[in-house]
Amino acid sequence: MKYDDNNIFAKILRGEIPCNKIYEDDYVLSFYDINPQKKIHALVIPKGKYIDLDDFNSNASNDEIVGLMKGITTVSKKLGISSIGGKGYRALANISDYGGQEVPHLHFHLFGGEKVGKMVL
Ligand code: AMP
Repeated sequence: MKYDDNNIFAKILRGEIPCNKIYEDDYVLSFYDINPQKKIHALVIPKGKYIDLDDFNSNASNDEIVGLMKGITTVSKKLGISSIGGKGYRALANISDYGGQEVPHLHFHLFGGEKVGKMVL
């Protein structure tokens, strides 16, 4: 499968549509999910064009991989939900068809601000 340049997160990265930004650096952009499932529901996406986690881990540079992993914790600290100083959260990536992925640009959901509940509904 080829990366779709017209997916909604690609448009957000290009600044063509707005987002409610939480954090940005060279490797990641983080913003609030438009349809929050928990009190806090953030998204963290890599800036590179990667469809899902397997595409990312297969094709991204080590710097990009480290950048995304560190970015998740930077965002969790910024939101006060980190295990370091906060009460924790769930990081989740849906992957492809059976994983229920809707937007074909890799993203981690960060759910927190309250007990997140059962892992799989
Ligand atoms: P997934 O099912 O893992 O692909 O999740 C896609 C997520 O993107 C959903 O939780 C949507 O609510 C969210 N979403 C879709 N469009 C936007 C947008 N324009 N800004 C923020 N979040 C969005």
